[in-house]
Amino acid sequence: MAEEKEIHLPELIQQVVASIEELKDTYGSFQVHDSVRKSHNEASSVLRELTDRLENNFPYFHPNYAAQMLKAPHPVAVAAYLATMMLNPNNHSIDASPATTEMERDVLKQMAAMFEYPDDFLGHLTWSGTTANLEALWIARELQPSKKIAHSADAHYTHSRMSEVLGTTNVSIPTEADGRMSLDALETQLKTGSIGTVVATLGTTGLGAVDPLADIIALARQYEARVHVDTAYGGFFKLIAANHLTPETARHFAAMKDADSIVVDPHKHGLQPYGSGAVFFKDISIGKFYKHDSPYTYFISDDLHFGEIQLECSRAGASAAAIWATLKLFPLTEQGLGSVLLATRNAAVAWYERLKTSEVLMPFQEPELDIITYLPRSKTMSDLDEVSHQILMQASQGPREDQVHVATYLVQAEQLKQRGIEMTNDQSSARILRSVLMKPEHEAQVPTLHSKIEDLARRLLS
Ligand SMILES: *Cc1c(COP(=O)(O)O)cnc(C)c1O
Repeated sequence: MAEEKEIHLPELIQQVVASIEELKDTYGSFQVHDSVRKSHNEASSVLRELTDRLENNFPYFHPNYAAQMLKAPHPVAVAAYLATMMLNPNNHSIDASPATTEMERDVLKQMAAMFEYPDDFLGHLTWSGTTANLEALWIARELQPSKKIAHSADAHYTHSRMSEVLGTTNVSIPTEADGRMSLDALETQLKTGSIGTVVATLGTTGLGAVDPLADIIALARQYEARVHVDTAYGGFFKLIAANHLTPETARHFAAMKDADSIVVDPHKHGLQPYGSGAVFFKDISIGKFYKHDSPYTYFISDDLHFGEIQLECSRAGASAAAIWATLKLFPLTEQGLGSVLLATRNAAVAWYERLKTSEVLMPFQEPELDIITYLPRSKTMSDLDEVSHQILMQASQGPREDQVHVATYLVQAEQLKQRGIEMTNDQSSARILRSVLMKPEHEAQVPTLHSKIEDLARRLLS
């Protein structure tokens, strides 16, 4: 990188727009219809108004934004998405997307290889982790219509919500003090014989905890249950698990290859804009559940069209193109995209170390990935709740370059006690602080983030 010119997004945008305009010209010019012709200046002023209105946002792209799971896509993804969107292929069918259907097959293969899945998996991109998980749970229901779906109490709310949509019963399994699914509680449920599929979360949305997948799979097999892995957030940590996460966490990432289905969101840790989830099934025979007639769409090829194996119909070819281009620059290796995840992981470890020795802050629990949870050293639950909230509000005040954005997370008194944190229970729950350190730039920003939050805690603690 050092001596080469760095990426300059406006130039990349110019390049791809010019190339696509040239490509369009090769089909011969045509008169744009009066109904869609507008003055350039008018459009330009609307877009100026748009960019002005976009000021009303938090700076998701900036390392001082250390709150929710939000970051900007990589410039190469932006340029690839824009270029492809100008042609607007639809990865529903090969007819509607010969080039981007191929790119999708290519990126799916790369992701499946990352999970060490067999070559003959069935899978596709989706608009989101929610749709991807819906499909996995729907297949679970189709395979075992009378059985229940078990997930941990800290699983994403999508699992209980989609169980409702599907008309299946879901069972919530308690977590241990580290936020991972309790194996004892799971076994109790499995013993009833009523569980068809266990959902393991590798990287819970709240705490970034990794459910003990290797053990869950062993238990589930014993009781003839299936296992679905929701790793919408954590999936790409597979790239650094073996060498940079704890051996225990690594063991569970390694077990993904034995799961029946996997969901991952490239729009979380894959440098992509929204509209990018993915689902993988190991047993390709489940394809039969997708069977449907589409008199309008599948003509030019007898190869499998993505529309034949997905619940959604239209889906942006641009999403596939954006991932494809991104993975060219950031291959799914430890040195490729893995270096981005390693930096985010390092940021979490570094902040955790500072929190442990702070006089006014303390960690809620040790981070397993790159999400940290922490709290002011309050003496009562009510003070904890108020001080956490005030820190969140006050850290984001003032001139933009001084702002720090963090999030809060609601915990029960019991969860604090489980982690050895004692305080007066004058209320049953309280907000603590939470930061998703998902940008590699967070690694350099930790000292700044920590000292800002520490100063506020010092002033606000009673
Ligand atoms: C984000 C997330 C989801 C939901 O995915 P969306 O892409 O937001 O729809 C589901 N499960 C987990 C573990 C997540 O982190």
